[in-house]
Amino acid sequence: MSELRLDATQLDRYSRHVIMDEIGPEGQQRLLEGSVLVVGAGGLGSPAIQYLAAAGIGRLGIVDDDVVERSNLQRQIVHGDDDVGRPKVESAADYVAALNPDVDVDTYEMRLSAANVADLVGEYDVVLDASDNFGTRYLLNDHCVLTGTPLSHGAIYRFEGQVTMFTNDRGGNEADSEGEATDDPPCYRCIFPEAPEPGTVPDCATTGVLGVLPGTVGCIQATEVVKYLLGKGDLLEGRLLMYDAMGMTFDTVDVLQNPECPVCGDEPEIESVEDVAYEGSCSISAD
Ligand SMILES: [Zn+2]
Repeated sequence: MSELRLDATQLDRYSRHVIMDEIGPEGQQRLLEGSVLVVGAGGLGSPAIQYLAAAGIGRLGIVDDDVVERSNLQRQIVHGDDDVGRPKVESAADYVAALNPDVDVDTYEMRLSAANVADLVGEYDVVLDASDNFGTRYLLNDHCVLTGTPLSHGAIYRFEGQVTMFTNDRGGNEADSEGEATDDPPCYRCIFPEAPEPGTVPDCATTGVLGVLPGTVGCIQATEVVKYLLGKGDLLEGRLLMYDAMGMTFDTVDVLQNPECPVCGDEPEIESVEDVAYEGSCSISAD
């Protein structure tokens, strides 16, 4: 067991974690030693950043190239009215600094691209995809598959959300000689092999989204990341959770690794993110 280094202030701050057997001082230490890259400081990123910071994740990276607009504030609750016009990464970093001095924040005011994804993701234990477009979503998936990086996925559309977790822990499993599927976990492309053609999905700004919806979905993503870092509980691995706010239903469907997946299948077409054009289509997720 590693030496415990929680000081008195931390034992107080995290006392409701520490008193639970499933976490304890050792689990809290793991969180404090953990690092998470949050891609997008919008609707999904806001609650994720807030709860990850409150939980004492020791280092948070925040990637976003946007500035805060007033129309964001209906759902992007890490930002305030005074932040309109400021870079979202700065506004989010200020929020975290005010909430929890244990958390170091790295801000990246840029758009994630095939050219920078390796440098950014390589610095962190886990990636939380809070992006608002298919290009970033597929880029993150492909990079995380190719590097074995765990990735929390969330997406929203009007009144509906979906969440799953990709540990990308394939442990060197090979398909057996019969070509049967392995026990390997699926990736995003196993479920949705290709991004929709640009223009075939509604424009994100005109579709609208229930403001509280990304709060629910982003919180579930943060829950999965905390569980992953703790090494506790049953992750949403191989399961896609679908949330319908209007019907107030949560449904979980099993998702399997696809041996014909273009990135994690038996004969992958994608061997480098440099091989793929990720630009284009707008999101179904309206961040
Ligand atoms: Zn796959």
